[in-house]
Amino acid sequence: MSTIRLIDSHAHLDFAEFDADRDLLVADMKRANIDTCIIPGVSPEHWPRQLDIAHSYQWPFALGVHPWWAAEDWPGQVSQLRTQLYGLGGERRLVAIGECGLDKIRADNWQWQVPLLEAQLELAAELELPLILHCVKAHNELLSLLSRYKLPRKGVIHGFYGSVEIARRYIELGFKLGIGGLVLNGDASKLHKVVAELPIDSFICETDSPAMAPKSSHSRRNSPLIIVQIITKVADLQKKSDVLISERLLANVTQLFEL
Ligand SMILES: [Zn+2]
Repeated sequence: MSTIRLIDSHAHLDFAEFDADRDLLVADMKRANIDTCIIPGVSPEHWPRQLDIAHSYQWPFALGVHPWWAAEDWPGQVSQLRTQLYGLGGERRLVAIGECGLDKIRADNWQWQVPLLEAQLELAAELELPLILHCVKAHNELLSLLSRYKLPRKGVIHGFYGSVEIARRYIELGFKLGIGGLVLNGDASKLHKVVAELPIDSFICETDSPAMAPKSSHSRRNSPLIIVQIITKVADLQKKSDVLISERLLANVTQLFEL
């Protein structure tokens, strides 16, 4: 597997958790053939730093407002997003809108999450960009929203955790599922079933670093280095070789985001 290029489709390497040793981590990633990370956006306050880091390492990025940051002034957040997106004018490293979505664990701002997401779905349609979607305990709401919009390049449900039935409904709408560190947990049997039963074309891999460290990890901070273990686990569940699975996952991610 070491000769195949690996991509982490979702890593917040702009976050402060990586400030002390980002260059060292990037050197370790290069040794593991992980040459690209997509850096998702989370809020207007985070974008300037995110764009600086993405540009300095020449990483692709997405821009959007994460549901945790959905505010009462969501129309203001949307207009900032619109200005930022159009200000980048054809920047080829801008590869998606996101991350955006719905999160019912954050019930306090739910009323603003929905219109904020709808505005970002409209922007994805208008700019013909794929979406990086975050969804926690709101799959039915997200599925019904996605089916109402005409989204030319679809996108990914990142850090997917749900049943085979929910997974199939996203795939029928043309979306991919982002498989991350959760798949490495021994008790993630629902996710193991999804990865084992659905076609490999349905998946891309990701880490969501610095979050979502697998239970077996010695560090609470997750890193893109676990992409290698995720691919091995996906190959194991699909009963295929690591080489074949890493080639297929690479094709899926490069096609979705036109990398
Ligand atoms: Zn994320």
